[in-house]
Amino acid sequence: MVDAVPFWRAKRLEEMNQTEWESLCDGCGRCCLVKLEEEETEDIYFTDVGCRLLDTGTCRCRDYRHRTERVDDCVRLTPETVAEIGWLPPTCGYRLVAEGKDLYWWHPLVSGDPETVHQAGISVRGRVEDLEDDVPADALERRIVDWPLRIPKRARKGNPGQDEGRRTAENRTGTPAGARLPRKNR
Ligand code: SF4
Ligand code: SF4
Repeated sequence: MVDAVPFWRAKRLEEMNQTEWESLCDGCGRCCLVKLEEEETEDIYFTDVGCRLLDTGTCRCRDYRHRTERVDDCVRLTPETVAEIGWLPPTCGYRLVAEGKDLYWWHPLVSGDPETVHQAGISVRGRVEDLEDDVPADALERRIVDWPLRIPKRARKGNPGQDEGRRTAENRTGTPAGARLPRKNR
């Protein structure tokens, strides 16, 4: 018998097992963009510059296993950190579930296809030309973009999460991204 309610609607983040938790990452790579934090206001700005370990084609970390050793401000997402950090993109599976919302049709757990996050224009594929080591720190302000905080029209079509699709944790397609902490912008 098929479960009537998929796990991301039935459970809170802290109730999920490891496989379920990891499958919640849609593989968009948005959280692996370099971000700047305005010190006075604490406002966060995304740039179109990738973390040095971001694979801009797959939108995954190139060394997920050793990411926190190689990038010291890569934060490990947990139910606690998801609750604490306010800058996860509005499309992020962890943020959506934490806010009691459903996943969109293009999430691999809903569509059953890891490509739909790219087809819907949610992922960073095709939008990141440089990684942080190629961009001087004082040039980052000129790379601020707002698309990581937006949801393209084609991604919003239909009823989010209501489309028929395979809804099992086994649909996960890779490791979830860690997320890069914002840099202080003086
Ligand atoms: S953790 Fe990062 S890559 Fe995964 S869904 Fe959230 S924003 Fe996208
Ligand atoms: S998981 Fe962490 S180290 Fe890997 S690309 Fe993303 S922010 Fe960088």
